[in-house]
Amino acid sequence: MDEPRTPSIVPPEGLTIRVNCRTAPRGKPTVHDVTVDADGRLTTPHDLDLERIGVALGGHLTCVELADHDLPAAWGLLEHTLRTRPADVVNVGTAHWAALAPAAGCGCEEETWPTAAQAAEHLRSPGHWAKAWRSSPARLAATVEALGFTVPAGGTNPLPRSAAEGLLAEPDAADRLWAAGVPFALVPELCRQLSPTGIPIPTHVVVAHLYAPREWAVLEKFVPHGPVVLAWAAQHRTPRDARRPDERLAWVEAGVPLATIDRVFAGDAYDLVHAKAYASETGVDVPRAATVLGRWQESGTTPAVRDLVELYRHDPHAALDPRCAPAPGAVARTVGLAAKRGLAVDTVTAALALARHGTAPDAVAHLSATRTPTIHLEVPR
Ligand SMILES: [Zn+2]
Repeated sequence: MDEPRTPSIVPPEGLTIRVNCRTAPRGKPTVHDVTVDADGRLTTPHDLDLERIGVALGGHLTCVELADHDLPAAWGLLEHTLRTRPADVVNVGTAHWAALAPAAGCGCEEETWPTAAQAAEHLRSPGHWAKAWRSSPARLAATVEALGFTVPAGGTNPLPRSAAEGLLAEPDAADRLWAAGVPFALVPELCRQLSPTGIPIPTHVVVAHLYAPREWAVLEKFVPHGPVVLAWAAQHRTPRDARRPDERLAWVEAGVPLATIDRVFAGDAYDLVHAKAYASETGVDVPRAATVLGRWQESGTTPAVRDLVELYRHDPHAALDPRCAPAPGAVARTVGLAAKRGLAVDTVTAALALARHGTAPDAVAHLSATRTPTIHLEVPR
């Protein structure tokens, strides 16, 4: 996906600043101009490559320090505080956001943050940038000032809340983007690409697109299914999604309703192959089969598909009914009643009997009639 350009920190023609250039840290300065171009590159009257050799041999030159340390540090800090490009933040796991390029000796070498906004906030700290480019807080501040800014303390969102209206779903979306360090200039085009019909999308989708390449690689595949499905996929991430990234999409592509997928994903009992097996054994379509599995998953009792197929063969109408899966309380009563009659049954057996016979007493009566109590004989080969 193409990324639109964001404005630079300095004007397109570059910015000329005056430097007190020294060949020793406390030496007498020579005053001259340098130019910073829109990409943050420095042009000086020196041959910097040659001067770098001198510095490597123990020499000193203000312009080498500026070009290789102080300017890139100030540039990184300003890009992040002014939100001229997406923050150097990356998602490294569920609720773990990290610095894309941790700075040696900085907290971000070890630390991750629960939100993209918190990780982005770290990247708006002068300390991080001073360490990242081996500058110093004082030289960093002086360079930021030379570029025409003061070291920003947080900064407030210049955009009104209405800026994201019609693009993003949440009323405070403009503030969420600002906190996550997302340049607003990117947002209208991004929303247009992610939601071609113009339905507002959750801010999280934009943040995932920019900062969570692994998550985005999954979410991107939902784009052709439209913004409603995309938003749903972004908002319904579960541990099951993390383990099997492409499974949710497969359910969508099988035509299973979103609410049914949510029911199935509340647990781990049923895969799409189970829905297909139920469908092929019963002749109902896959979405219908998934609905049955979703109801059983939601009930908390999850029989094997072959047992659910048996229920269907017994009474197709009841097997497809919205109340096909007995509630946990009713299952517990059936287990209890069976125990009173000296019959040990597990919850799945009790639930299946209940589904077939309707009431706990009928289920237990049927169980006692059909079950040989407790003794299992091994048949010798
Ligand atoms: Zn850091």
